[in-house]
Amino acid sequence: MDTQSQVVDRLRAVFRSGVTLPEQFRKTQLNKLMSMIRENEQQILDALHKDLAKPKFEAVLSELDIVFNEVYYAIANLKTWMQQEYVGKNMATRLDDCFVRREPLGVVLIIGAWNYPVQLLLIPLVGAIAAGNCVIIKPSEISGATANLMAELIPKYLSQDCYTVVQGGAEETKALLQNRFDHIFYTGSQRVARCILQAASVHLTPVTLELGGKCPCFIYGRVNITAAARRLAWSKFFNSGQSCVAPDYVLCSPATRDALLPALRQIMKDFYSTEPQNCPDLARIVTPQHWTHVMELLGRSNGKVVMGGEGNQEDKYIAPTVVVDVAEDDALMQEEIFGPILPILTVESLEEGIDFINRKEKPLALYVFSDESSVVNTVLNKTSSGGFCSNDGILHMTLPSLPFGGVGASGWGSYHGRWGFETFSHRRGCMLRGWALERLNGLRYPPYNENKLSWLRWSASPKSSCSLM
Ligand code: NAD
Repeated sequence: MDTQSQVVDRLRAVFRSGVTLPEQFRKTQLNKLMSMIRENEQQILDALHKDLAKPKFEAVLSELDIVFNEVYYAIANLKTWMQQEYVGKNMATRLDDCFVRREPLGVVLIIGAWNYPVQLLLIPLVGAIAAGNCVIIKPSEISGATANLMAELIPKYLSQDCYTVVQGGAEETKALLQNRFDHIFYTGSQRVARCILQAASVHLTPVTLELGGKCPCFIYGRVNITAAARRLAWSKFFNSGQSCVAPDYVLCSPATRDALLPALRQIMKDFYSTEPQNCPDLARIVTPQHWTHVMELLGRSNGKVVMGGEGNQEDKYIAPTVVVDVAEDDALMQEEIFGPILPILTVESLEEGIDFINRKEKPLALYVFSDESSVVNTVLNKTSSGGFCSNDGILHMTLPSLPFGGVGASGWGSYHGRWGFETFSHRRGCMLRGWALERLNGLRYPPYNENKLSWLRWSASPKSSCSLM
């Protein structure tokens, strides 16, 4: 078996051969990826069920169809994305061909996380293939059944010369990172992101970081409370709260909280019955260790549990839980919860809520629920976050036409649709010149004088391009 560095060297040699460059090659691989998903739907659903007890409904939406739609979108748009982009010129360059070429970076590494173990590997892979790269794919060892299945299926469908799955945990990943890559695309925690950055700095490798954090849901002003409770509960408890874009906590006025609680209580019954542990529509926490971590976080909270609170370690089950009277310095507010626990904090005014959000790290997603567009626009204008969605949760990340990624501590860079293609491409600025206009060009050669300088300054200025039109 090849060592890791042999694998990287082999892929680099293949990349240099130019095999991944033609549009047709990229399209063929993307079509094969599409077949891989369609022909192995049941096996993928089974693996996801083994890892996280993902309900089929949630898995189809968030792991299969979302990837399928991305592949389809990439195939449909690849020709346009690959086209040279001609740019504006000035007098000095009027006869030149000036354009931006999107070129593949080379051999790129994609490191996935366990909470959406198919989507988080394959959507970046779509961008990397579309852009013409060779790829090493490292699934999360924590979602082991899905990682094994990806390692079995990918070589069956995609070119083994160009795309390789490497399995392993922290130690294997650290060893892999000693190799030089042309780009590293990492999804996971902020803690590990620091290790990735350190390793990347040795080779000055550019990095995309898709991280997490605490995504607020600010409910303010007039609002349809039943619809708000439904959308909030769905986006929070989807995948048992293990979504990087799950609403982590709610900010609202005391009056809104008092209206929200009975609505949430009813909706939890409607969604998950009176015995949520027996409900097949609720996923499980990924491992007993992660279960313990989330339950300990709840145990350390000084808030009041008003719904749920129970858990069963053997079953890796945690009931959908709502906690009120949560202070800003509560244990639940110190880190991303990543489980089905929803703290509700109260603020007295719109400004107080905005200040609260702005005191924290910039979140991956920010949600505002309100019937009043002035409220939505004020929060949008006065805050920053990776993505933004009003009156719903999670859904903004399902559109391939929107960039998906964080800002500040929630991540660097973005992907999905064209944005993934751009992430894995180098934008090469090209100027193809001939020998014409040598008299004009002669102005830049010594002996220098003031007259030549003023002509040159004019011919290189944007004004000269306007006067050409
Ligand atoms: P994880 O434990 O699966 O780790 C992610 C990857 O890092 C794995 O492939 C793992 O093998 C590797 N890894 C672990 N330790 C390492 C080390 N020391 N050095 C190098 N590699 C190492 O996942 P996680 O970190 O628990 O993921 C959960 C976090 O990811 C949450 O914060 C969540 O919000 C975030 N997340 C973000 C997105 C996004 O798109 N922005 C998506 C999903 C999850």
